[in-house]
Amino acid sequence: MSRPSRALIDVHALRKNYRLARQLHGGRALAVLKANAYGHGAVACARALEATSDGFAVAFLDEAIQLRHAGIGGPILVLEGCFTRAELIEAHAHKCWVAVHQEEQLRALEQAPSQVGGMHAWVKFDSGMRRAGFPLSQAKGLAQRLQGCDAVSRMTLMSHFARADEPESEATAIQIAAFDTATAGISAERSLANSAGLLAWPAAKRDWSRPGIMLYGVDPLPGSPSALSPVMTLESEVFAMREIEPGDALGYGAHYVAAAPRRVGIVAIGYADGYPRTVPQGTPVMVGAHRGQVIGRVSMDMLTIDLTDVPGEGVGSRVELWGRNISVNDVASAIGTIGYELLCHVQRVPRIYE
Ligand code: PLP
Repeated sequence: MSRPSRALIDVHALRKNYRLARQLHGGRALAVLKANAYGHGAVACARALEATSDGFAVAFLDEAIQLRHAGIGGPILVLEGCFTRAELIEAHAHKCWVAVHQEEQLRALEQAPSQVGGMHAWVKFDSGMRRAGFPLSQAKGLAQRLQGCDAVSRMTLMSHFARADEPESEATAIQIAAFDTATAGISAERSLANSAGLLAWPAAKRDWSRPGIMLYGVDPLPGSPSALSPVMTLESEVFAMREIEPGDALGYGAHYVAAAPRRVGIVAIGYADGYPRTVPQGTPVMVGAHRGQVIGRVSMDMLTIDLTDVPGEGVGSRVELWGRNISVNDVASAIGTIGYELLCHVQRVPRIYE
C-alpha cells in the first residue's frame, strides 16, 4: 500500500481566489507562483490559471523556464531579474519580463546584444521596505535611462509593501505617497499591491497587482473574515493505534507523559512532509468529522494524536493537518511563523489536483 499522505489541491478554489484578487482593484493581476506556487506545484497551478490570468510572477529565471518548458504561454515576470548578459539573453529567448532593482541589472539591459529587444522591464523602487530596489530619489533618471534603452519597449514602475498586513499602521500609506511623489509625471505602467495590499489598501490600486498568498486561500490579515477558499488540504491517515497508561511517555524525548489512560493514533505524516516539528501539545487536527489533537513530538515520518475522546476513529481514519477545516495560519501562529512558510515546506508528499 502506498503512503496515504498527500496534499489535495483544489484548483477551483485557486481560480476563484484569483478572480477575487482581480476584482478587488479592478486592474490586471500577475499570479505569483514562486517557490513552486507556495508549495502547491507551479506548473499545475499555472495550467489551472492560464485561461483566466493576466500573467504570472516567479522569483528566479529557472522557475520561469520550468513553466515555459511545461508549455505555459503568456507573460511571466521574473521578480529577482537578470544579473548577467547570459541570463538576459535567456530571459529574452523565453519571452520573460524582468524586474530591475539594481545598477548591474540596468547596465546589463543597456549593454544587451542587439538580438535582445522588445523587453518589458519592471523597475523596482524601495519606497520603505529597505530591501531590494532603487532609491525613489533616482526615479526620474532611471526612467529616462530605460526609455533610452534599445532592449526595452515597455516599462512598469513597481514597489513592494513591508507592512500591508497591518491595516492600523501608517507605513503603507507612507510608502504609497512616497512612490507617487517620486514617480509623478513618468510615463509608465505601475504596480504596488501584493495580497495584503489588495485586501486592505484600495489606495494601492494601480495598473497591475501581484497577489500570491491569497490565491492559495490564505488570508494575510489573520483574524479578518475571509472570502478566500483554502486551496491545499494536507492530509494523511491513522495507520496504527496504541493504548498508553498513566505515566507512559510518548515518542522522542518523552515529551508527553500521559496523566490518564489514552488512545493514541499514529499518523503517517511528519516534519519531512512539511508538518512542523515544533507544534505545541494540543495543536488541533481533524480526524474524520471530529477534532483531535497532536500529542507527543512530531517525528520525521509520523506523528501521534489523542483519540481518547473520539472513540469512533482509529486505523484508516483520515486526518487533516490543515486545509478546509484547520487553518494553516492557526498552525503557523502556534509556532510563531506564518502560513506562507508552512505551505512552502510541503514538497515531499504527492499533490493531487481536484
Ligand atoms: N510581489 C513581490 C515583489 C513579492 O516578493 C511577493 C512575495 O513575496 C509578492 C508580490 C506576493 O506577495 P503575497 O504572497 O503577500 O501576496
